[in-house]
Amino acid sequence: MSTNTHLASSPDMNFADELRAVAEALEAALKVRDLPAFYRVFRATSLPFLCSELGDNTEALFLRCFDVVHRLGSISPAVALAVENHYYVTSAVATFPAAADSALEDFRQRLMARVAGERLLVANTNSKVHGKKIGAIGTVAVREGTGFRISGEAAYASLATEADILVLLTELAGEGLALFVIPDMVGNPSLEIGDNLFPTAMIDSDTRRIRFNDLILKAEDFATTAESGVAALLLPFEMAWHQALIGALYLGSAARAIEEIRCFANETVGRDNRPLSELDGMIVDVGRLVAEYEISRATVLQCAKQLSMVSDLPGHTTELQRASAAASIAKYGSCRTAEAIVSAARRIVGARSFATGSILERLSSEVIFGTLGPEVTAVIERRLGAQTMQSDRFYGLS
Ligand SMILES: Cc1cc2nc3c(=O)[nH]c(=O)nc-3n(C[C@H](O)[C@H](O)[C@H](O)COP(=O)(O)OP(=O)(O)OC[C@H]3O[C@@H](n4cnc5c(N)ncnc54)[C@H](O)[C@@H]3O)c2cc1C
Repeated sequence: MSTNTHLASSPDMNFADELRAVAEALEAALKVRDLPAFYRVFRATSLPFLCSELGDNTEALFLRCFDVVHRLGSISPAVALAVENHYYVTSAVATFPAAADSALEDFRQRLMARVAGERLLVANTNSKVHGKKIGAIGTVAVREGTGFRISGEAAYASLATEADILVLLTELAGEGLALFVIPDMVGNPSLEIGDNLFPTAMIDSDTRRIRFNDLILKAEDFATTAESGVAALLLPFEMAWHQALIGALYLGSAARAIEEIRCFANETVGRDNRPLSELDGMIVDVGRLVAEYEISRATVLQCAKQLSMVSDLPGHTTELQRASAAASIAKYGSCRTAEAIVSAARRIVGARSFATGSILERLSSEVIFGTLGPEVTAVIERRLGAQTMQSDRFYGLS
């Protein structure tokens, strides 16, 4: 049985109704290749602005975001990824305990008021580029009077043509990493939204290269430098939200793949005229997949608690480290599990996965992006391996 009881037991059925409507809108939009139609329905609901409704309840907010991205991930992992980018940024900003840094707290409050008040969608970029050096940043901000001039290129911004504002992480010349908000993405002549970075498999994530042509920002668009004090904890906090929700979205794809097996095996009879669903081997195979899904789902859901423990910074720095570690593992396991479950579904359903507009074709080509980011598999494995090798005793035994 699913561990998802938080939705079923909620007295607030509006959320479930809105989620159903948004899921139906996505199914319909994909059929006619009209994603703006999906975003119109999404924006008209309260779903994009959960952060303002539940910003004071991290656990509840996480569980709601989980439900949305899991549901959308069961239809289109790519679109779910675009939407997830909005959710992780807005949720992290809404729940970040910044009281010890009054300037950051003021910025946070203003941003949240704007997102909810003007019903905005938020994209983000970490300014990474695909250069010869891993982790290279392609943009730079330079102080100019009381404002800033931004130039250069970033490889990744999902939700790029639908979002209204862009959260930008860049190098601030001479001062290290800094966070800005570009308040007007739409029709901004100094912001060039380029081609799709993934023109085939992940096209619906709307992930594009973006170029800053001497874009001028005001002092009020500057959030914080991100290298010291409480502000330096914002990036890991955001990352913990991101990784956990990425796990949720790809588990949505896994859940849909299991449902496809269930339907196929119940609707199809073997040469002996018995439904495939009655074969003991099939029952065992599906049971194994469900067990793997549930294990990963539990690791993602526990991130709700871990994130909610971070209610005071810098006081809860250790809790933040635990939440980051939990989210990293949850993402690592869930994305691998999702990929394996979708592959298993493809093998069970067979060639018709690619023949009749089956959703397994879309899931197959998009689910593989889970392990590719935000933290790449090699980074997670190397960190855990090094921690273990450098310790006196494996922490799992202590
Ligand atoms: C579909 C999609 C949408 C995205 N949308 C956004 C977005 O909206 N905004 C945003 O800011 N970012 C976005 N990203 C980028 C994401 O946040 C990560 O930066 C990105 O996924 C990292 O992947 P990379 O291949 O660029 O990593 P790189 O860091 O370039 O790594 C490439 C490869 O090098 C190897 N490698 C890297 N580091 C190590 C190491 N320490 N040890 C050993 N090997 C290593 C690994 O094999 C790795 O796969 C998106 C990514 C994807 C896939």
